[in-house]
Amino acid sequence: MTFDYDLFVIGGGSGGVRAARIAASEYGARVGLAEESRMGGTCVIRGCVPKKLMIFASQAEAHAAEARGYGWQGASAGVFDWQAFRQKLDVELTRLEGAYTGGLSAANVEIHKRRARLVDAHTVELADGQRLSAKHILIAVGGRPALPGIPGQELGLISDDLFTLDALPDRVLVVGGGFIACEFATILQGLGSRTVLAYRGEAVLRGFDMEMRRHVTEQLRVIGVDLRLGANPARIEAEGAARRVTFEDGSSELFDAVMFATGRAPYTQGLGLEELGVTLGDKGQIPVDEWSQSAVPSIFAVGDVTDRVNLTPVAIREGHCFADTVFGAKPRKVDHALVASAVYTRPHELATIGLTEEQAAKRGPALVYAASFRPMRSLFAGSDARAVMKLIVDARTDKVLGCHIFGPEAGEMIQMVAVPMGMGATKADFDAAMAVHPTLAEELVTMRKPTRRIGDDNLDRNTASA
Ligand code: NDP
Repeated sequence: MTFDYDLFVIGGGSGGVRAARIAASEYGARVGLAEESRMGGTCVIRGCVPKKLMIFASQAEAHAAEARGYGWQGASAGVFDWQAFRQKLDVELTRLEGAYTGGLSAANVEIHKRRARLVDAHTVELADGQRLSAKHILIAVGGRPALPGIPGQELGLISDDLFTLDALPDRVLVVGGGFIACEFATILQGLGSRTVLAYRGEAVLRGFDMEMRRHVTEQLRVIGVDLRLGANPARIEAEGAARRVTFEDGSSELFDAVMFATGRAPYTQGLGLEELGVTLGDKGQIPVDEWSQSAVPSIFAVGDVTDRVNLTPVAIREGHCFADTVFGAKPRKVDHALVASAVYTRPHELATIGLTEEQAAKRGPALVYAASFRPMRSLFAGSDARAVMKLIVDARTDKVLGCHIFGPEAGEMIQMVAVPMGMGATKADFDAAMAVHPTLAEELVTMRKPTRRIGDDNLDRNTASA
């Protein structure tokens, strides 16, 4: 049977673009790709990239305050011009979109600027009715913000909307306590919006190391975010251009805008998967095996639509491994076990890899090495902000199981920690590295004595499973 393509990719985000480009340019596959929106996907157009630029923008006043602390009399960031920033952002995103499109075209990938859905195991139908066949189909459509299901939620914003606002809200409510809520509360507060963060739990960033969660929670308060823990909106009503939010405890308040950051869900609706025999998971995700292959052998899926580890670099690796395996005869799987990540709060980021203290304690005996200190740069400028670094080490093998950093540029540091940890480094390996002085990161190789020992209660379980 002949097909129009060797590979058809649905979705022009991080995972889909990488798979298409590698399959076409490295292995000579005939590749088509459909994207209904802008090329580059969530990360480039309405996620990581514009978010990080907004984080940079939001720190100007903090940098001016630091400059004053270093003797720069009258240093001030001035007045933030949202429109000027937005116009520059648009230009930059258009440039990046062009780079993605150009990379695909250079690899001879045929781009279809339309939504696509599956018709059968080897056929897709574009929004204009055109049908195209392919030996393999890769679904890389990502996720979409998930709303909590409360009355009036359509009056709220999602993170996508924040990049295209005509004006920044004066008083804003951010709902949620995950990556997006913490980062956007930091951004909005830094750009001058009076920001309230309502999170239903007791400390933001569930799933992260508890001690680190407390530091991020406290930092949000310190930078001026009005943090409401154990609080959740029950309904939203419009009052003119404003939004009246009634919380679950019956209290109500007026905001200029409400932003939901209550998670994301795989964007599988209407793709035609279930009709083909792919039973979606409880969140709508496509179940795949270690080769990213679905229950239908010709259909594969990578990235957030599979709800494995929902991060851009993971989607890129999954897309690359898929192309190597299926088109390059080089079988390659993604190891999802040791994935570093960072939450871009400010002034301190939280970056992490490996086990949390709570996870390590359940696994067996471990030693916690921790350092808490005031970085010299901010201390000199008059700040009391403390950085915290933590290594969690297997008490029996000396292997480093987890590393957690709360501090300036923690994301940059954890990237380098990911290398030795991926190689199975021990605490002795960390200790053998010569410190670079004076840096923050030197604390990671100079923690001599454990702060505490954990997990002895689970000694038996660990020994049994070792
Ligand atoms: P998260 O899953 O990280 O957080 C969702 C938050 O919303 C949680 O605090 C959750 O509370 C809360 N929540 C969920 N449902 C409800 C509800 N019905 N009512 C009230 N609160 C609710 O999702 P995000 O939206 O923050 O981010 C989505 C994903 O995007 C992340 O998982 C991450 O993979 C990715 N991302 C990564 C970034 C990075 O690498 N820096 C930055 C931004 C996003 P609870 O904890 O109680 O369940």
